[in-house]
Amino acid sequence: MGLSAALHLKKRQPALNVLVLERGFLPTGASTKNAGFACFGTVSEQLAAIRRSSEGEVLRLVDYKWRGLQRLRENLGDENIDYHQHGGYELFLDNEKELADYCLSQTDYLNDLLKPVLGKPVYSAADAKIAAFGLDKVGRMIYNPFEGQIHTGKMMRTLLHKVYEQDTLVLNNCSVERIEQESNHISLVTSQGKFKTAKVILATNAFANQLFPDLKVIPGRGQVLVTKPIHGLKLKGTYHFDEGYYYFRNIDGRVLFGGGRNLDLKAEETWEFGQTELVKNQLVKYLQEIILPGQNTEIDYWWSGIMGFGEDITPIVKKVEPNVFCAVRCNGMGVAMGSLVGEEVAELALE
Ligand SMILES: Cc1cc2nc3c(=O)[nH]c(=O)nc-3n(C[C@H](O)[C@H](O)[C@H](O)COP(=O)(O)OP(=O)(O)OC[C@H]3O[C@@H](n4cnc5c(N)ncnc54)[C@H](O)[C@@H]3O)c2cc1C
Repeated sequence: MGLSAALHLKKRQPALNVLVLERGFLPTGASTKNAGFACFGTVSEQLAAIRRSSEGEVLRLVDYKWRGLQRLRENLGDENIDYHQHGGYELFLDNEKELADYCLSQTDYLNDLLKPVLGKPVYSAADAKIAAFGLDKVGRMIYNPFEGQIHTGKMMRTLLHKVYEQDTLVLNNCSVERIEQESNHISLVTSQGKFKTAKVILATNAFANQLFPDLKVIPGRGQVLVTKPIHGLKLKGTYHFDEGYYYFRNIDGRVLFGGGRNLDLKAEETWEFGQTELVKNQLVKYLQEIILPGQNTEIDYWWSGIMGFGEDITPIVKKVEPNVFCAVRCNGMGVAMGSLVGEEVAELALE
């Protein structure tokens, strides 16, 4: 979001002096660690979001994500980010019959609701494809043809190149420790010294309340595994189950699989990167029993990333102090909307 904001600031006012300060060796939060689903919500997620907020808010968010995805593709180029629209699937396990029946009974309602944004029906039953994907213990499946996937590392690389091209400097290994209001400027006290600036955009997402404790952002760690290449892999698309708590996809002939935060939500409410035996064991079990049954697949590597969650389903884009603006909390779904959220906060800072 910070890089998207920088890109937009320089597009609007090329003479502006924009500097990005990044704590990590790489951008080290969620954007280099995610699963790369260009998603805007499964049926169960949309129904839960309507219960938490309203139909209007859900429609607004889907519209935002859909337009955000088009902006991401336009800014960076499909080839550069390995964008593919293979579609997405929500799976219901054999023991989730009640939830599956309920979600399938609501697809017409959601399709009508989302029609003003997507123009066509979004969700449809796709049980016939379960066997072709080689899945086991999956009873029902819902398809969404609009869902796409990107390569997260390539996305970040392209975004950084675009930002450099516009003559914006990105300084890494520079942790902002305090933001102080001075009489005629703002001071950023960092691990590398003090910077003076006129305006600041805070795009630290899950870590936002380390600097501004009043910002309501709760960290949530996501643990991910990637398998070794799989000969004749049948999966193609993005797949979610257990109301979005588990997600997997094909990538470069491998399977990327993450989730399991709900096994111990309190323990995963952390700013610490890392894995736990509880989540790792569950991911391996589901990989072997549901996703690639009977294939004895080897895991190549693991990683984790930290998302920013909150009560509200929408991101926080606002002025937090004079000349300090924030764009944080994408609720674990920032890939599609991040570019637009970055633009929105850049516009706020330019006002
Ligand atoms: C495992 C996982 C899977 C995900 N899968 C998906 C998915 O498939 N689809 C989807 O839409 N979303 C997904 N997400 C969520 C998505 O990645 C985020 O919503 C999005 O990347 C948020 O972007 P951001 O720029 O707001 O935050 P971040 O990418 O977290 O950026 C914040 C940056 O601020 C830096 N920072 C923090 N504090 C400081 C400081 N004090 N000083 C300097 N720098 C600082 C951090 O190092 C970091 O680089 C996933 C997230 C995770 C962790």
